[in-house]
Amino acid sequence: MTAQDLAPFRLAPNGKKLVTVIPGDGVGPEIVAATRRVLEAAKAPIEWEERRAGAEVFKEGLASGVPTDTIESIRRTRVVLKGPLETPVGFGEKSANVTLRKLFETFANIRPVKELPGVRTPFSGRGIDMVIVRENVEDVYAGIEYKETPGVAQALKLVSRKGCEKIVRLAFELARAEGRRKVHCATKSNILKLTEGMLKRTFEDVSKEYPDIEAAHIIIDNCAHQLVKAPEQFDVIVTTNMNGDIISDEGSALVGGLGFAPSANLGNDVSIFEAVHGSAPKYAGKNVINPTALILTSVLLLRHLQEFGVASNVENAVVATLAGGKVATRDVVGDALAASTSAFAEAVISNLGRAPPTGWKVRQYRALQMPHVPSAPARVVPKSRRTLGVDVFVESSTDARTLGTELQKLVQGTPLVLHGISNRGTLVFPPSDAMTDVVDHWQCRFLLSDGQREVPEEALITLLQRIAARHRWVATERLQEFEGTPAFTRPQGED
Ligand code: NAP
Repeated sequence: MTAQDLAPFRLAPNGKKLVTVIPGDGVGPEIVAATRRVLEAAKAPIEWEERRAGAEVFKEGLASGVPTDTIESIRRTRVVLKGPLETPVGFGEKSANVTLRKLFETFANIRPVKELPGVRTPFSGRGIDMVIVRENVEDVYAGIEYKETPGVAQALKLVSRKGCEKIVRLAFELARAEGRRKVHCATKSNILKLTEGMLKRTFEDVSKEYPDIEAAHIIIDNCAHQLVKAPEQFDVIVTTNMNGDIISDEGSALVGGLGFAPSANLGNDVSIFEAVHGSAPKYAGKNVINPTALILTSVLLLRHLQEFGVASNVENAVVATLAGGKVATRDVVGDALAASTSAFAEAVISNLGRAPPTGWKVRQYRALQMPHVPSAPARVVPKSRRTLGVDVFVESSTDARTLGTELQKLVQGTPLVLHGISNRGTLVFPPSDAMTDVVDHWQCRFLLSDGQREVPEEALITLLQRIAARHRWVATERLQEFEGTPAFTRPQGED
């Protein structure tokens, strides 16, 4: 394998580094043009391949919003600088952003949150300087949803050990590459013990391999609270997809909002660099939007291309421009005093080569080592496993007592017994004192009767046939035990 095979980018025949650039929708073309001007003035050795995605592609009838030649270019260059893409509000189309993230398995979303000079916020002077590392493809964002009854919808929160290992290792590697000292893992493992708990347990295992970096767990709601109370305590935060979506926007707000929020979507093969903000349609074509977020995104891109000198030069020029305060966009100084998007970019260009203002912490960056994760399907093999029973989800407008009594009779003569019925996660049969509201979606739990080792497969089929003869079953879940530990949760109210 050559050094070029291992590098996270590819070279053009002229020796420059290949990058696919997608101008995108709304304000996208303006901020992408401004950013390219800055990079060209900074002499970034980039060979651009311009491609399309987003609104105009949807209008041409392509439901993914991403044409084949764009996909081919990304496969070739491995690196993308992208303007925002509008998400269609219609039904059939998917988000082109999500399509790109999933197609190229960019499993990590990296969002630096750093206080910028000249950008006044209630947190100015606190020295905020952290990176939020969000898992980018799993969790409820896998997008697996069902309406199980006409009145009850469900989304699958899917979390894998492999996905957790990738994101946790990346967070520690990022801490090392940026000379950071502490990684927090933020989860809701106190409630979601199996899914969020998997990230916590993986973090506890993997952190042992990084003794040079302090590791701490924090419950996500407290993390959101601490981010406002004492944001300067955080260095790196790694978290699951939805938690990360929410706290990274919170993080952006701490340092000035969407106009200043860069991001990178990193994968083993392809990485996509984009501002956090969207296409801001009301400002499209007006040359007024703040391009700082995308210019700072290009600093992340330059480091990914291992152009550390150019990256510092561009970053210092942005910081010097903001600190100078003479040229600022409307989101910072209001309409009357505002500089245009292009004028701001010109001001950044005029500051290239300048040292950053005093007080700006300069980090020594080195190449990020992406965690090596085999692409073969991950299979975690337990030492032992057995099936203890099954949950059958039933749509019924009857009450818990009637349904429970009927199911108790129906299961007679099989190795299973009705253990209980829950509604929206709370035990409602056998009857209890719970004053719970119920809907027409019943989780009926059948477990092995005493003394049995494992549920025979035929018993599961027989049970389902008997239920189907009288009720509409809508889903089933096998209840398993791995290495003696039940692999399912108990409902609220079960002792
Ligand atoms: P948005 O485009 O991010 O804009 C919301 C508001 O944020 C703007 O109206 C503006 O606030 C402020 N803002 C955004 N970018 C700014 C910048 N560079 N400088 C200064 N202020 C900025 O969010 P949206 O209106 O919810 O979404 C519009 C479209 O973008 C949707 O189709 C959405 O799906 C898509 N989107 C795409 C991406 C992506 O491609 N990664 C991300 C998010 C959203 P004021 O009105 O207060 O000035």
